Amino acid sequence: MSLTDKFDRPLRDLRISVTDRCNFRCTYCMPAEIFGEGYKFLPKPQLLTFEEITRLTRIIVRLGAVKIRLTGGEPLVRQNVEELIKQLNTVDGVDDMAMTTNAHFLPKKVDALKEAGLKRLTISLDSLDEDVFQKMNGGRSSVAKVVAGIEAAENAGFSPLKINAVVQKGVNDHTIVDLAKFFKDRGHIVRFIEYMDVGNMNGWKLDEVLTAKEIVDMIDAKMPLEPLDENYYGEVAQRYRYKDGDGEIGLITSVTQPFCGACTRMRLSPEGQIFTCLFGTKGTDLRAPLRDGATDDEIEQIIRNTWGHRIDRYSEIRTDLTEEMREKRKKVEMYHIGG
Ligand code: SAM
Ligand code: SF4
Ligand code: SF4
Repeated sequence: MSLTDKFDRPLRDLRISVTDRCNFRCTYCMPAEIFGEGYKFLPKPQLLTFEEITRLTRIIVRLGAVKIRLTGGEPLVRQNVEELIKQLNTVDGVDDMAMTTNAHFLPKKVDALKEAGLKRLTISLDSLDEDVFQKMNGGRSSVAKVVAGIEAAENAGFSPLKINAVVQKGVNDHTIVDLAKFFKDRGHIVRFIEYMDVGNMNGWKLDEVLTAKEIVDMIDAKMPLEPLDENYYGEVAQRYRYKDGDGEIGLITSVTQPFCGACTRMRLSPEGQIFTCLFGTKGTDLRAPLRDGATDDEIEQIIRNTWGHRIDRYSEIRTDLTEEMREKRKKVEMYHIGG
């Protein structure tokens, strides 16, 4: 029987965060002052094993999920993540298997990912300007390394790629036209993401958000754009194509034009909790029942209950909350459940 939440939204997508660790320190996600040497990440025994993730995925797919995305933290720092992809590919009913990565380790990993059956890659790159990149992404990599990862992905046949770029007012907005042009020429789709108040650690302020409209206007002034229809129900990005017929971009407008009404995404954390919203405050633990010997039917019932009671629509109510209320709400962090 198909599963819907309190607002009639079906479960269609599963985002699996395979680790809470990352080799970058993006200021908007894992600020280095907080995630320093002494930070305690999850110890290995607390992480779900690949077998446990695959078992949960099989149950969640039975409930309607058809698209899977691996994320993190940085999914490529989880050892042998390609082995997980192989196992997930044995689950019947999955139409799509994607990964979001910062690309740093792609040159050495991409062939194994392809061979394991990964279908699509989204690569995060906020700016081609080295100084801006260092400032936003924490000084542990370089534009050249990310671009090398992109080239490795192209050579392995992952084209077109999606490129995620978070836009922060006064930080990288002066470089977004260059980024758009670079990937237009290479045939990839940049998705500009409005800077979001995920978690409580990045010190988000509404006035640091460059709106999707401002982003479109800046690009349109140099390379004229026109809107496109959505590809499918629940598509996150608003699409625009270049009027010269050569390529498209996407806008992820979580702040100024929320899309909760068609949100079909469930998130699984590295230690086995499911979250029904990116801005959730509390997950539902599946690891304890899993390790205590619950049957698939019993676990399915927990997931049904969780999704069945879902009323999340945080982005639609965000601007009605005062700054103080937003800060008091203890939300799950992005590096933990993976965007
Ligand atoms: N480490 C991988 C990466 O960066 O691609 C995957 C995990 S990362 C949390 C997933 C996506 O979330 C990235 O594209 C990142 O830019 C985006 N992201 C992280 N924090 C964000 C924020 N505060 N607002 C908007 N997007 C954010
Ligand atoms: Fe790491 Fe991705 Fe977060 Fe950057 S956005 S710190 S690359 S998890
Ligand atoms: Fe979905 Fe929550 Fe984002 Fe709304 S705020 S689109 S419910 S994840």
